[in-house]
Amino acid sequence: MKVNLVTQIFIAFVAAIILGVIFGNSIDVIAPLGDLFLRLIKFIIAPLILATLVVGVSSSGDPKQLGRMGAKTIIYYLLTTALAIIIGLAVAFAFSPGKGLDISAGNTEMAKEAAAQEPPGTIETLLNIVPENPFSALAEANILQIIFFALFIGLAITLVGEKAQPIYRFFDGFAEIMYKITGIIMKFAPIGVLGLVAPVVGEYGLSVLLPLIKVILAVLVACIIHAALVYSSAVKLYGKMSPLTFFKGISPAAIVAFSTASSAGTLPVTIKNAQENLGVSNRISSFVLPLGATINMDGTAIYQGVSVIFIAQFYDLNLSFVQLLTVVLTTVLASIGTAGVPGAGLIMLTMVLTSIGLPLEGIALIAGIDRILDMLRTSVNIVGDASAAVVVAGSEKELRHQN
Ligand code: ASP
Repeated sequence: MKVNLVTQIFIAFVAAIILGVIFGNSIDVIAPLGDLFLRLIKFIIAPLILATLVVGVSSSGDPKQLGRMGAKTIIYYLLTTALAIIIGLAVAFAFSPGKGLDISAGNTEMAKEAAAQEPPGTIETLLNIVPENPFSALAEANILQIIFFALFIGLAITLVGEKAQPIYRFFDGFAEIMYKITGIIMKFAPIGVLGLVAPVVGEYGLSVLLPLIKVILAVLVACIIHAALVYSSAVKLYGKMSPLTFFKGISPAAIVAFSTASSAGTLPVTIKNAQENLGVSNRISSFVLPLGATINMDGTAIYQGVSVIFIAQFYDLNLSFVQLLTVVLTTVLASIGTAGVPGAGLIMLTMVLTSIGLPLEGIALIAGIDRILDMLRTSVNIVGDASAAVVVAGSEKELRHQN
């Protein structure tokens, strides 16, 4: 009997939870399988983005069209992130996760580490998009810098015309090869998910989770509300796509994001799902998704909103309306600045806490369960990116089922 890949991944996911619960910490022996899968998907990121984006930009030909696509993408990203943080705050108020809580322990090590890592300034971040050396951008897999490099090559190919055709064909062939490799690696995804998820489940006993169960539930519920309200209506409205088709199509990437807690690491899978299952064109997906994996973090925004309320309640501090507004603004910025790697959201939380003068030690309270929250928020982060791909493709008439 042939079981399709999505089902296989799902079965692996459930099996991982069961194995983790049964074997506890000793299930760590299978962690190398997860690491292997993670390395396999990471190794294709830089060449995949470069090749697909060069082809996407040069085949679209018109810089004006490109600008329009860019503007739509960024507006959608900002809007949905702002909605995410508002939903996060509202749900956190409803759950009151920090009221009457008595936990003294907390993970102070991680809190100190997070507080010590100064988030980069806005101007520095913007300047950093321009690579001083495109090859080191590729070597370091700096996604924004690779996007910048690829956009320019693609535009220049269009401007040069005939003479640049061999280079276009080179990247076109190269992109096909990268898609092929992604497909081969994905066959290994069920084993990878097993190796990534089981050790996490094994490590976190109920005693770690229970005192903070309200925080976890608040993040979970806010994530579900955000996806159900915002993404469902967006794909329906702009992509004429049923939300069910959307969530089903993106589910393999969502599970990989959950397992790896890295949007950047999940990127090849997100692109593959968007193209094959959601019918988003190459041009749109190769631009919208790498950008989203780097700057669009709705799940992280939700998590930061919930954490702020949690920490304020724990220290018995009341937040004024102006402070809440400040949280919305700084969280949008913080989530843009969050890198698509595990644990980055925790570091950027320091920025949000500082903006309204909340004690940074509060980070210690959630640091212990950050990995679990990270898995949840990363899934929402990449589903948000995929919804943008559907919305932009829909409005540009580049969704397969439209044609
Ligand atoms: N791990 C998240 C991601 O890769 C970022 C975060 O820590 O919030 O999307």
